[in-house]
Amino acid sequence: MNKTLRHSYFIGNWKMNLGRAEAKELIKGELSELPGDSYRVVLAPPFLLMPLVSDLIGGSSLLLAGQNCYKELKGAFTGEISPLMLKEAGATYCIVGHSERREYFFETNDLVREKIVILLEQQIIPVLCVGETKEEREANRHFEKIKVQLSSVYDSLSKSERAKIIIAYEPIWAIGTGLTASSQQASEMHKFIRDWLASTYGDELAFGTSILYGGSVKKTNAKELFAKEDIDGFLVGGASLNAKDFLAVIVESGA
Ligand code: PEP
Repeated sequence: MNKTLRHSYFIGNWKMNLGRAEAKELIKGELSELPGDSYRVVLAPPFLLMPLVSDLIGGSSLLLAGQNCYKELKGAFTGEISPLMLKEAGATYCIVGHSERREYFFETNDLVREKIVILLEQQIIPVLCVGETKEEREANRHFEKIKVQLSSVYDSLSKSERAKIIIAYEPIWAIGTGLTASSQQASEMHKFIRDWLASTYGDELAFGTSILYGGSVKKTNAKELFAKEDIDGFLVGGASLNAKDFLAVIVESGA
């Protein structure tokens, strides 16, 4: 089945960057040129900017994502954000299990699974991040690592829940480092993920799941990566922080 039958995504993860004025400027630039209808563009601003971003993109084809959420809907969880709050702010997507969350905030596969379950209950589409460290790749354990990260989430979900998840393959050694996986390394892993989905859950899920690549994507590598059959778009950090760079990634990819 051809990749054009899946949704392509360009998701901008602003991380802990940009203030209100910068966000306004960025979105003004993005709205001036966006987008074709053959792909979806999703912005993941810091929580405090979400209402502003939601207002600014209202009525356009731009979509809103949380960068994270908690695994409960409400209660005594100081400092956390509920999926209900994301929904109220206008988010229809949420990044889960980003390697920075796993590394700096000790998020386990179990917690990632719990977050995905509650997001799906709230009709928010999870963008499940998986990826290996440099050491794991060098020890040839990268496929095993990704399989464990995926199966710890997918195994407990129903068929219809599995069908809603977007996967983002982000080799940790390529995030924010300027190093990119070669298009061959990336497409090999994307094919591994799709083959695993097919052999574990069937072709329908495998062919229908959008698998994004993340890790120092920029206009100079977007075309080669996006040309690969199993790469359905990008999760972009650094290059999503100004409109020119982010739009260039989309344009260069040829989506
Ligand atoms: C990311 O934040 O998921 C990411 C891939 O960042 P960068 O594009 O800066 O490597």
